Amino acid sequence: MNYREILDEIEDILEGSAHLDELADNKQDPFKILISTILSARTRDSNTKLATERLFKNHYTPKLIAEEEIEVIEDLIRVSGFYKVKAARVREVSRIILEEYNSQVPKDFEDLINLPGVGTKTANCVLVYAFKIPAIPVDTHVHRIPNRLGWIKTTRPNQTEEELKKIIPKIEWIRLNRVLVRFGQQICLPNHPKCDVCSINTFCAKDFSMEIALRNKKKKLSINLD
Ligand code: SF4
Repeated sequence: MNYREILDEIEDILEGSAHLDELADNKQDPFKILISTILSARTRDSNTKLATERLFKNHYTPKLIAEEEIEVIEDLIRVSGFYKVKAARVREVSRIILEEYNSQVPKDFEDLINLPGVGTKTANCVLVYAFKIPAIPVDTHVHRIPNRLGWIKTTRPNQTEEELKKIIPKIEWIRLNRVLVRFGQQICLPNHPKCDVCSINTFCAKDFSMEIALRNKKKKLSINLD
């Protein structure tokens, strides 16, 4: 099985869509996708979604956010966590986009990572989800899963990005994050992966099915002995 077929196989068993996915599918503007990605740092998808919806309910543009009271922004995005730091970043990024980019989010990786609070992952997310430019955003799922599958052997996200770029055909880069994020949320969970129902467990170097079966057997035994 090649990478394309494995990604197809994974997609077949996934349900719903992740937050950035929804924004991209609904053709939301790149500014909203950029701000939402900044809000997503160290928080769950559901909180990012709520904070994004609250913020953009006001039809904010870069100009409106740049001119907004910081306390108002803090209050609107509070649910995303680290809201004081994020509010300051969101307002500063809006100001720069307004003043230096004529209110248009840049499509260039170097321009994006020069924005405050925008790192490699966020810049790559904006390229992929806002502009459909091939890139590989590496978050916790995209780092963990290819290592479990045995595709790569890396310890740091930047290594993961480089290694994945060498082996995954460029045509698959755009969907890679989308597929692996949902797979990591639904099946290949960080602590208790559901290997027994995983559609690609025969291609995985780290199939934990046996361990899960053994653990369940032990649990059953201890219940019977109680
Ligand atoms: S078999 Fe388990 S560890 Fe491997 S990809 Fe599937 S869920 Fe993840």
